[in-house]
Amino acid sequence: MQTFRCQRCGQTVFFENTQCGACGARLAFDAERLMMRAFEVTDQGPWRTLDDDRTAWRPCANDVKHGACNWAVPADSPHALCASCRLTAVIPPLHDGRHLQQWRALESAKRRLLYTLWSLGLPVPDRRERPTDGLVFHFKASPPQGPAVMTGHAQGCITVNVAEADDAEREAIRTRLREPYRTLLGHLRHEVGHFYWDRIVGDQGWHDVFRLVFGDERQDYGEALKRHYEQGPPADWSQRHVSSYAASHPWEDWAETFAHYLHIVDALDTASHWQAVMLATPDDPSPTQGVHFARVATRMQDFRQQLVQQWVTLAMFLNSMGRSLGQGDLYPFVLPNAVLDKLTLVHSLVHSTMLRARTATAA
Ligand SMILES: [Zn+2]
Ligand SMILES: [Zn+2]
Ligand SMILES: [Zn+2]
Repeated sequence: MQTFRCQRCGQTVFFENTQCGACGARLAFDAERLMMRAFEVTDQGPWRTLDDDRTAWRPCANDVKHGACNWAVPADSPHALCASCRLTAVIPPLHDGRHLQQWRALESAKRRLLYTLWSLGLPVPDRRERPTDGLVFHFKASPPQGPAVMTGHAQGCITVNVAEADDAEREAIRTRLREPYRTLLGHLRHEVGHFYWDRIVGDQGWHDVFRLVFGDERQDYGEALKRHYEQGPPADWSQRHVSSYAASHPWEDWAETFAHYLHIVDALDTASHWQAVMLATPDDPSPTQGVHFARVATRMQDFRQQLVQQWVTLAMFLNSMGRSLGQGDLYPFVLPNAVLDKLTLVHSLVHSTMLRARTATAA
């Protein structure tokens, strides 16, 4: 993700901020321009941006009512909610105080997910406007008695059990399942991977090339998962898959790989922008090293040479930093050649989808 500056005082500010730590300006995210903006807030009337256009805005209703959002809505929008909150159709009952915290954490992770999808140029259709191929989120709590909510994706609906937003609970599950990594953002990136399989491979007819790289997805999905949970992954899974769960079925392999693609693109993007921040001097406050890697590395060959090579170095750097600070590895994965082939296919299909979406918008 890019770095942002307060439009009033120039201080570095973050995607999650609602206020500048240096000058106190009210901040909110503008999803149209994908940037944090500073606002002049008055008791009456809309907020005004501090830049020359002085456009009128208001906070998302989930910010006002629940402190669950930091995005702004154009003052003339017919919607009370921002572009991210509108995609959530179900939230847990908020009279339970834990649910409010859990829901806030989920919305925060979802905003970061959306930022990456939009910056990659991927279409994010709203289920309410596109009932057959739109995306919607259900954040649900399991009933005290009765079956637990299963995190998963079905026909554009991403369901997340809000208990995953409880750090202690999620860490307990991670340890029990012997997973190296389990985060809310990782869940959302995985589940949205299933959504894009339908939109990219399914709708656009890329089945043959998918099967060549990931295997035949027509094998029985229920049987495959049952086998995975009963017998575990094959002994050599790490030669061919990014995680043991990815070995369960080609659809899960795609979703896991897609999640890693988003991890890699976002982290490289963040690193490139911070590199520019760290290289800045009073004489040259905006060096040009900050580059959006996913846009630059458009061809498959470039993806392998530029993006992957830089990622391997950056991942080692991140893991070393984690260890220096007494934490575990931030990216506890290795990427064998077979996984690089899969990431390369995800990249080229994402890129072609971005081009199609752009052409469709232009037409
Ligand atoms: Zn400021
Ligand atoms: Zn919102
Ligand atoms: Zn899955």
